[in-house]
Amino acid sequence: MLGLMQNQPLLISSLIDFAERHHGDGEIVSRRIEGDIHRYTWRDVGARARQVANALDGLNLLFSDRVATLAWNGYRHLELYFGVSGSGRVLHTINPRLHPDQIAWIANHAEDQVLCFDATFLPLVQAIHARCPTIRQYVMLCDAGKLPRDSGVPNLIGYEDWIGGKPTAYTWPSFDENSASSMCYTSGTTGNPKAALYSHRSTLLHAYAAALPDVMGISARDSVLPVVPMFHVNAWGIPYSAALTGCKLVFPGPALDGKSVYELIEAEKVTYAAGVPTVWQMLLGHLKPNNLRFSTLRRTVIGGSACPPAMIHAFREEYGVDVLHAWGMTEMSPLGTLCTLKNKHLTMPPEEQMKIRLKQGRAIFGVDMKIVGEDGSELPWDGKTFGDLYVKGPWIVREYFKGEGGDPLVDGWFPTGDVGTIDPEGYLQITDRSKDVIKSGGEWISSIDIENIAMSHPAVQMAACVGMPHPKWDERPIVAVVKKPGADITREDLLEFYEGKIAKWQVPDDVVFVESIPLGATGKMLKTRLRETLKDYKLP
Ligand code: ADP
Repeated sequence: MLGLMQNQPLLISSLIDFAERHHGDGEIVSRRIEGDIHRYTWRDVGARARQVANALDGLNLLFSDRVATLAWNGYRHLELYFGVSGSGRVLHTINPRLHPDQIAWIANHAEDQVLCFDATFLPLVQAIHARCPTIRQYVMLCDAGKLPRDSGVPNLIGYEDWIGGKPTAYTWPSFDENSASSMCYTSGTTGNPKAALYSHRSTLLHAYAAALPDVMGISARDSVLPVVPMFHVNAWGIPYSAALTGCKLVFPGPALDGKSVYELIEAEKVTYAAGVPTVWQMLLGHLKPNNLRFSTLRRTVIGGSACPPAMIHAFREEYGVDVLHAWGMTEMSPLGTLCTLKNKHLTMPPEEQMKIRLKQGRAIFGVDMKIVGEDGSELPWDGKTFGDLYVKGPWIVREYFKGEGGDPLVDGWFPTGDVGTIDPEGYLQITDRSKDVIKSGGEWISSIDIENIAMSHPAVQMAACVGMPHPKWDERPIVAVVKKPGADITREDLLEFYEGKIAKWQVPDDVVFVESIPLGATGKMLKTRLRETLKDYKLP
């Protein structure tokens, strides 16, 4: 016997309808490329998203056709999120930090028909348009009358001219909730990029889950600043959860330096912010020397790469901001785990609580996880045994777009490529990417542990640990370190600093001081490139 409840498909259009109807005057604030602040409401987002839908119909775009964006976090990008997916097309957010060749490759692979881009990226579009035969309409996200003459880009129109004059009325179509809604290519650190193709259903389930109190805990009373880009896994789903809750949204545009982010947080009474560690490093770097405090910020989600304990400490102890350490990936929409305490932890001494907070957290309902050994057998949740992390759930990829890379699943589970431990309470701790694990004398050493310790040293700005070939132990860890400006530290100082913090055999064999550590398009350390730069290095 089936249940007798209404069978309404879970569609992205329902999110914007809801936000508009129930939080119509809720604010959306954007710092624009031009530098000024733009404000409007969820009601405006709804009206203009419907204009976008009408404009796409005007191009005779079919169901599931791809509409690409190269854009910062801002209000027009938000309108595209709802207008493109709501009308049944697929929003393809492209990471502008990728190499132009890779961007052209991605646009061709996705068969994008329309490309909407911020003025910042005009030179990029000029460089690639000749190689993108499927794109038949270019739209520059700029004010009316601001389209450059003689840009050389064919079929180029300004966004306001494109949607202006289009009706604000539109009946969102109804269709199967499993239809594709948006897509995002992984950064392709190995091989060509592969696309995760999200569905309306996966996006809505993820939006519900992300808003839960033990996940992002977003409510109508929050003012939320997604510093994580909308071109990177849909800004961790925040635009959707924001519409679902009716919170205020604050967009930083391209200004991601510490000063700009701080000023926006204060001016817009931001209570909640989300981003990768490198961005928060810049923010903390601005606060300290200027003796600044936060007046409204209470929580920040940090993920995308391991959040150094020193950062969690600084936010909590010095600035009264709770850090929610999160783990996920493009293939997971992206949220997998998020670190919040359980009731029983509240009576623990603060140092014990901190040990938990440093982990990547508990699985969110909807994400099932396990760790497995080299023979594929499941490993115990004892908080000590390392294993390859596998996941499954309704917002995790089943396969990549166009079947790239074949069937990624193993017995229905998606291998994340991460290695970690799970403790008896279900808290995951990521110790490495599987390709970065250091194997010394048959034992595994966590490069993240070694980096975290280095980064808790006051003279260290950034640290990356890699394994170097060793005749006896197979591999030994070394740590590449960028010093803080003006700070001084020697190799011996740092090696001494490891004493008592990890087992002796895990202490790196050497410290190499470098000017910078290569970062990838999503702000993560590129260890492959670091290893290349260290190819002539010899262990002491
Ligand atoms: P890519 O950079 O390959 O496109 P993602 O941006 O999806 O992929 O990144 C996913 C990966 O980032 C994870 O598999 C994991 O290795 C790393 N990662 C994400 N969050 C964390 C975290 N909190 N701690 C450690 N690693 C993390």
